[in-house]
Amino acid sequence: MEQKILMEQKIKDLRERAGGAIKSASTLKTLDEVRVKFLGKKGELTTLLRGMSQLSAEERPIVGKLVNEAREDIEQLLTEKNSSLKAAELQAKLASEKIDVTLPGRRVHEGHLHPLTLTLNRVKEIFVNMGYTVEEGPEVETDYYNFEALNLPKDHPARDMQDSFYITEDILLRTQTSPVQARTMERYKNNEPIRMIAPGRVYRRDDYDASHSPMFTQVEGLVIDKGISFADLKGTLEDFSKKIFGEKTKIRLRPSFFPFTEPSAEVDVSCVMCHGEGCKVCQGTGWLEILGAGMVHPDVLKMSGYDPSQVSGFAFGMGIERIAMLSYGLDDMRLLYDNDVRFLKQF
Ligand SMILES: [Zn+2]
Repeated sequence: MEQKILMEQKIKDLRERAGGAIKSASTLKTLDEVRVKFLGKKGELTTLLRGMSQLSAEERPIVGKLVNEAREDIEQLLTEKNSSLKAAELQAKLASEKIDVTLPGRRVHEGHLHPLTLTLNRVKEIFVNMGYTVEEGPEVETDYYNFEALNLPKDHPARDMQDSFYITEDILLRTQTSPVQARTMERYKNNEPIRMIAPGRVYRRDDYDASHSPMFTQVEGLVIDKGISFADLKGTLEDFSKKIFGEKTKIRLRPSFFPFTEPSAEVDVSCVMCHGEGCKVCQGTGWLEILGAGMVHPDVLKMSGYDPSQVSGFAFGMGIERIAMLSYGLDDMRLLYDNDVRFLKQF
């Protein structure tokens, strides 16, 4: 009888302690520890059940009922606490991951065209507006198109003017965009008129310094038609120079030599910095050399199937880097290739 009272007391005490522990559990992990402590295989309730053997046969079912009630009670409390803790954890997670729709958006950095591309596009635009077509050709070129078709046979001394990157004896990286002119002339038949520019990259074995690069961008132009004269060439280049450097720009032609033109000229524009007064950029002369030009050599016309007695033409070529440096006032060509974002941002 005493044993029964003691058991009843222990069960009551266990229920109270389990209830308190469940109530104060603040995480699912501690709640599970409480469950193991009271209801687990080695838990307090199991230990209590072992004491039943000391009870009489009449007392056992009564105490057994109390133990079962206690177990159900504790399980009920555990289930309730479990769902409330889960709900709280979900709430906390939602709160921490909450998206603040009132925050300003992150700015996407917008790129823009490279200053060389901008300059090239401007040059293209000027000539396209004058009725020129834009022609393209391969950068890996045959010796024939790069030199021979332009009046530069294998032993010609002028080949030394352009140190080349040869791939085989007959294939090289083009040293100029002129092969595109030869290829275009071949495509046209029966002395058909041509008015074209050929923009693109060219390659020469040059040092890499403030004014030289082994790779640079060129634009060449070619016009062939009946009665094309040197006056047309001069007028075209003057018009172009005014459009690219400003209305006040003057040009001047100096006699020069190129194997593919005769006569040939170096073309200067009045200094874009001092407008002819003389400054550091133009080395005090007031003039800046920007391109080479001339009347297409009759042999070049013949080689590409044109009849020099029927038509004539002029050609010119310029470096886009030079034009870009003069229009943007740059003193080092390498700025155009280094692609430093701090530099590129300024355009
Ligand atoms: Zn100047």
